[in-house]
Amino acid sequence: MSEQTQQTKPGVVIVGAGMAGVQTAVALRAQGFTGPVTLLGAEPHQPYDRPPLSKAVLLGKAEDSAFDVAFDVDFGELRIDLRLGVEVTGVRAAERELDTGAGPVPYEVLVLATGAEPLTLPGAAGVPGVHLLRTLDDAVRLRPVLAAAHDLVVVGAGWIGAEFATAARAAGCAVTVVEAADRVLAGALPAEVAAPMARWYAEAGATLITGARVAAVEEGAVRLGDGRELPAGAVVVGIGARPATAWLDGSGIERGPDGSLTADAHLRTSLPGVYAVGDCASFPSARYGARLLVHHWDNALQGPRAVAANILAGAPVQAYDPVPYFWSEQFGRFVQYAGHHGAADTLLWRGDPAGAAWSVCWLRGDALVAVLAVGRPRDLAQGRRLIESGVPVDPARAADPAVPLKSATA
Ligand code: FAD
Repeated sequence: MSEQTQQTKPGVVIVGAGMAGVQTAVALRAQGFTGPVTLLGAEPHQPYDRPPLSKAVLLGKAEDSAFDVAFDVDFGELRIDLRLGVEVTGVRAAERELDTGAGPVPYEVLVLATGAEPLTLPGAAGVPGVHLLRTLDDAVRLRPVLAAAHDLVVVGAGWIGAEFATAARAAGCAVTVVEAADRVLAGALPAEVAAPMARWYAEAGATLITGARVAAVEEGAVRLGDGRELPAGAVVVGIGARPATAWLDGSGIERGPDGSLTADAHLRTSLPGVYAVGDCASFPSARYGARLLVHHWDNALQGPRAVAANILAGAPVQAYDPVPYFWSEQFGRFVQYAGHHGAADTLLWRGDPAGAAWSVCWLRGDALVAVLAVGRPRDLAQGRRLIESGVPVDPARAADPAVPLKSATA
């Protein structure tokens, strides 16, 4: 964007004041954008970080995780016009205007960062005692549930389900986790890697039931497809999330079958001057030869830097093709993953999965494409750099946990 247009209102308008929206605003200023930046967020709270919600915030060990406190983001000093409690209901591209509950908002450049919404179980919405875990309000509602040490049923053994079960066991609740797939983390990891992770549930004193369909959620009970009835003082549904893009119906902005805004390699949507970033957007990865929809924190940190660079240049100067990264804290373990693997990639174990610390590497040919590290943060850091560099890896050395991963090159 030229210096002249930077001075002309309405500047850049960002929809969604979560990690990706806030980081886009911060990156614009960090990279020297001097024009108006408006950040619109539907939630009434000061923008906050989500990962602590299923960890310290849930257990009452942290009050909240607002970006201004936790990350020192000073919206006033950065001249970010932060408008909270403002839900955007539509985009009128021809007028370059947004419809909001607080009236129309014009934009010159638009960034869509509306994140994702948790999926719900059919028939469960509105049933007393049934919870989701996505927002600060959800976490605050769940705190007294944990404190009351109810019998809890968690539906879904994904990342959120595992983290919630961890917190609920720490709070002394009886926890049963019900998973429709035949294993934990079925969407993310192959069966042989998921198997040792499933054992963590029992070790922590949680009951894990896999291959079980929920037939009905009623007040005080969850009924399974095979007729079993589980007592449930409360139910937490963690069965995944979908990009929050339904409000864009009729906008003309292209979406994929998964609901994501199908951005290009520069995070531009199908409409000129409209970018998409974070959990709501998918992008083509040349590195992995696939379109990726990443629902993790690091993606909502890195993507905005590319968006800001492209807005500032007024041209597609910075492609976004990261090595995706995320972490999870579950059952006393620090789990990290970098990269992206497919079923055809070769899997190598580093260490004994029955132990406290082990890793898994995925190779495509002789290149490392992904690494999962449990309690081995060095493997993660070194593996991530090997993935980025693409240097050939020696499989025998990579499989030896005594050899630093950075030295496992061919
Ligand atoms: P969001 O954080 O969802 O923010 C989007 C914002 O847009 C929301 O505040 C929403 O209210 C607002 N919005 C939506 N629609 C509109 C609209 N129409 N108008 C105005 N505003 C709107 N990742 C990790 O890597 N590691 C972790 O340990 C981890 N833990 C997590 C724990 C929890 C409980 C959750 C929920 C997520 C966790 N994640 C973790 C994922 C990570 O937090 C997300 O990837 C990240 O928050 C995505 O940021 P975002 O800004 O794209 O979306």
